[in-house]
Amino acid sequence: YADKVRDRGVSKVQEAAWRTWEVEKRLAHSLINGITDFIDEDTEEARIKLPFALDVIEGPLMDGMNEVGDLFSVGKMFLPQVVKSARVMKKSVAMLSPFIEAERKAGGDAHTAGKVVMATVKGDVHDIGKNIVGVILGCNNYEVIDLGVMVQANKIISKAREVNADFIGLSGLITPSLEEMAQVARDMEQAGLRIPLLIGGATTSKPHTALKIDPEYSGPVVHIKDASRTTGVVRSLMSNDTKQDFMETLDAEYRDLRIKYSKKDNKSKYISLDEARRNRLKLDWESYNPSKPKYSGVMEMQASLEELIPFIDWTFFLFAWDIRGKYPQVLEDPVRGEEACKLMEDAREMLECLKKDDRLKTEGVFGIFPAASHNEDILVFSDPVSNQSESRLLHLRNQEIKTNGPNYCLADFIVPVESGKIDYIGMFAVTAGLGLEPIVSEFEAKNDDYSAIMIKILADRLAEAFAEYLHYRVRKEFWGYAPDEDLPMENILREEYQGTRPATGYPACPDHLEKLTIFDLLEVNKRTGIRLTETLAMMPGASVAGLYFSHPDSKYFNVGKISPDQVHNYADRRDLPVAEIEKQLTNNLNYK
Ligand code: SAH
Repeated sequence: YADKVRDRGVSKVQEAAWRTWEVEKRLAHSLINGITDFIDEDTEEARIKLPFALDVIEGPLMDGMNEVGDLFSVGKMFLPQVVKSARVMKKSVAMLSPFIEAERKAGGDAHTAGKVVMATVKGDVHDIGKNIVGVILGCNNYEVIDLGVMVQANKIISKAREVNADFIGLSGLITPSLEEMAQVARDMEQAGLRIPLLIGGATTSKPHTALKIDPEYSGPVVHIKDASRTTGVVRSLMSNDTKQDFMETLDAEYRDLRIKYSKKDNKSKYISLDEARRNRLKLDWESYNPSKPKYSGVMEMQASLEELIPFIDWTFFLFAWDIRGKYPQVLEDPVRGEEACKLMEDAREMLECLKKDDRLKTEGVFGIFPAASHNEDILVFSDPVSNQSESRLLHLRNQEIKTNGPNYCLADFIVPVESGKIDYIGMFAVTAGLGLEPIVSEFEAKNDDYSAIMIKILADRLAEAFAEYLHYRVRKEFWGYAPDEDLPMENILREEYQGTRPATGYPACPDHLEKLTIFDLLEVNKRTGIRLTETLAMMPGASVAGLYFSHPDSKYFNVGKISPDQVHNYADRRDLPVAEIEKQLTNNLNYK
């Protein structure tokens, strides 16, 4: 800093005077503590007192941000605090920008640590993680150009070219995005780009990055496991001194992963689909009487925030903010407790505002249909009277060698068609994200990323709460197989009731294609504002869809990796090319 000031021909005496302005200390203090109350006045005062507007950023703000970064990296500060600090920084920078721009025109030079173009790939809506990474990079003086969700490869590449980006960051939530990311990598290669490609999001992994994305692109491809690691990675890649070491270590890791996965003698760990079927869960269907729903057919559903708030699982809320620990005990935690309490306060305040303002809308639909199973299929008789028109839910069976326990498949929880009995299956789709976008935009326009992220996280939690709330009413009223259920909320949130609601895309039913059948049978497009993207992500992102099973022995499990025999069988049943199925199930193949 001092060097820079001297370069501009400022005397040491003047510099010393400037360095000691109280306002600088106040700015850094506000920034470190995430306080926005005085930021306008302090920024203005600092701008007037320091030689250049840019000095406010490079001096007190960056000093504060570096301290935040240090505290965060040693675990003395948590994600929400960083986001709040970023909010202070952003508000201040927004005030300074016109002056910096004017100074630049007059011959000074503004510099950022680097430019990052970020996007969620085509067909996907992953957002919160990407936003948090954006904020963290922003606080470290990187310029972030966020292209939003569902962005085509060519748009990402041309933007990166246009702004001369130092990095491209891709994020994805659902499995089909993995293939899309590999495609973006191929296109970047084709386009002759060599800047680092950063990969993140719920569906991504280091092995997938090593095996499927890295080989497509000759520039660095780095999987970033969580937001807090971003700056470290980006910093290592920005400086030539550290880049080489970093890449050598990473390449070695990738090489090991490739060797490990190619050597894996997968066949020995898996059994054939036929064998797995023979080891299916055998329930006593002889004495089983499926409970006939009180209400059959499709029903639309709304829920008020008052109704949903008690069903929010706060453990998951805190987890989204990177505060790990079980709620409510975590509120007393000596390390994380204080921050957890502050988050809860802010969340409750935001929920109060949402209640009054009534712009965030929930919509849902569910249906309970007569059904029976055959191997991995669940036959759904859409017309309860004639049992005529039939759809099929297509499931997958676990194929791992089991020393004890069955090879599970969801279809095993439904009466087999041979029994002659009629069972039932439920389906649902809910959202709590309608009307969210404009509210988020308002916060973003006010440079308030903290509130923007907060409301998105709350919408996600409300969607899950809606799923839990609806499931509760289905058990007690609409299906009514558990009219006398009387569990405390804590036990409901631990899902200790009878029955399950596997969500599409989750381990027991990893194929997102299943959503097409659910959407069709429930007429989701007609009855709600939820839409599927071309790769079957749900829009708004704060949505959940899945199935209801009522059998007392139904449970959650992991289909895990499957062998070519099942992939071929499944492709036949779906009437789709094997290659298409392999693309859908990238994460579930025990070969390739
Ligand atoms: N209360 C939590 C609930 C979400 S996690 C929250 O607020 O986020 C639990 C849900 O994830 C289950 O109800 C089910 O829908 C889904 N799930 C978990 N494990 C699953 C599995 N193995 N297969 C399918 N769905 C699963």
